[in-house]
Amino acid sequence: MNASPKTEWPKSLWHASATPFDDVSPLTTSISSEVCIIGAGFTGLSTALHLAEAGVGSVVIDMHQPGWGCSGRNGGQVNPCWKVLPETFDKKFSEAQKSSMIKVASAACDLLFDLVDFYKIDCRAIRPGYILGVVGSSGKRFIEEWTKQWRVPETAIKILNREQMRSTVGTDGYDLGMLDRRGGSVQPLSYARGLARVCLSKGVSLYGDTPATGISKEVDQWRVETPGGVIHCKKLVLANNGYTDDIWPGLKENIVPVGSLISATKPLPDKLAEEILPGRHAVSDTAGMPVYYRLDERNRMVFGGRGTWTGQLGNLDTGFLRQAAMNLYPQLKNIEWEFDWGGYVAMTTHHRPLLLSLDQNAWAGLGYNGRGVAMSTMMGKQLSMALQGKPTGLPVEQSRGIPFHRFNKAGIAARMISGRLKDKITRRL
Ligand SMILES: Cc1cc2nc3c(=O)[nH]c(=O)nc-3n(C[C@H](O)[C@H](O)[C@H](O)COP(=O)(O)OP(=O)(O)OC[C@H]3O[C@@H](n4cnc5c(N)ncnc54)[C@H](O)[C@@H]3O)c2cc1C
Repeated sequence: MNASPKTEWPKSLWHASATPFDDVSPLTTSISSEVCIIGAGFTGLSTALHLAEAGVGSVVIDMHQPGWGCSGRNGGQVNPCWKVLPETFDKKFSEAQKSSMIKVASAACDLLFDLVDFYKIDCRAIRPGYILGVVGSSGKRFIEEWTKQWRVPETAIKILNREQMRSTVGTDGYDLGMLDRRGGSVQPLSYARGLARVCLSKGVSLYGDTPATGISKEVDQWRVETPGGVIHCKKLVLANNGYTDDIWPGLKENIVPVGSLISATKPLPDKLAEEILPGRHAVSDTAGMPVYYRLDERNRMVFGGRGTWTGQLGNLDTGFLRQAAMNLYPQLKNIEWEFDWGGYVAMTTHHRPLLLSLDQNAWAGLGYNGRGVAMSTMMGKQLSMALQGKPTGLPVEQSRGIPFHRFNKAGIAARMISGRLKDKITRRL
């Protein structure tokens, strides 16, 4: 049997500072399990954990190690709800379904922080809130509509005027802001490893450096091929998000993977950190090329945004990101940047995540549109309910693919160019 190559990690701040975790071994034999989950990011691990809580056993495999994908590379921002307004939800959904989607998305941050508390996951979780910064009257309208349509409780929200934004976010770059107290941040790779540790402690079988290379049906069960062995299972979950490959025909056509880059500074002096983000909030904005940022526990500025114009990660050219950071914070001018990395975000055309039924006893959860830290944890819970035949809060949809999928790269490039032009005109870049 062939061995898989050992995982190479991106040179990220998160990999350099994560809670240590011993590599899990590759699968080297043939096994059987009630459920096989392909992908050990937040989606796959949360599915396994919720199944284990319900007494259902599972095997989780990853072509690399737990947290290697987006889950170990993201900004670590735990954001409430989705970026999109509920009024854009497809007309095919009933009012009851829309209400249920709002409820599920709204509960995602609580689910994550409750898991971290309950299982004592060591991932530097903090919950000071998430801030959205906006400019102009369209930004103001967006905040009003977003809070109304997502039915955010008044106690969760504080609107920050320009002066309050300056004192909370340390920049003059925004006219208005929305502090949503439900949000916060985690060290994402430590969170993924923490979920993996809980799964192992509950008897989940976890294999690393184990790519699924083929899936086929055998009467009433699935057969998952890997280089070192075969997994026979009754139920199957694909949890590969922006790294979805061809193992399930047509699945990757439901999303467009788009590169997102992050740059992190060396630790800032305490006085500067206090000036910039005294409350340690997680921040993002709605500029032409939106950016997201926060400080880590050692005062490093962790600053992210979309990657190259083609949607690919390229050679991690983060020059434009650093420029955007310095335009917002001229105080960063003489600060050294230490880490650059990136990963593939899975976008959907309607900007909402998908819980898909692929076949009888086969599901997938994907398409978080860059907002998956809390939501993929919630998707895992939803998938575990679908697997147990229980009603889900998210609608279960069919895998249909995005029409004209192969033209999407051109669409992404056009959006990138127009976003950057907008930021140049407004002197943001
Ligand atoms: C740079 C960046 C910044 C982001 N910032 C934020 C943020 O601040 N807040 C937020 O909410 N969201 C953010 N996101 C999005 C968030 O990280 C994702 O939505 C989330 O991690 C998705 O988790 P997942 O488990 O579905 O996918 P992943 O973590 O990508 O896991 C998929 C796994 O599947 C495995 N895999 C693929 N194919 C196979 C196969 N054939 N066999 C076996 N294994 C396979 C991969 O190795 C991978 O480990 C960001 C994403 C990126 C890339």
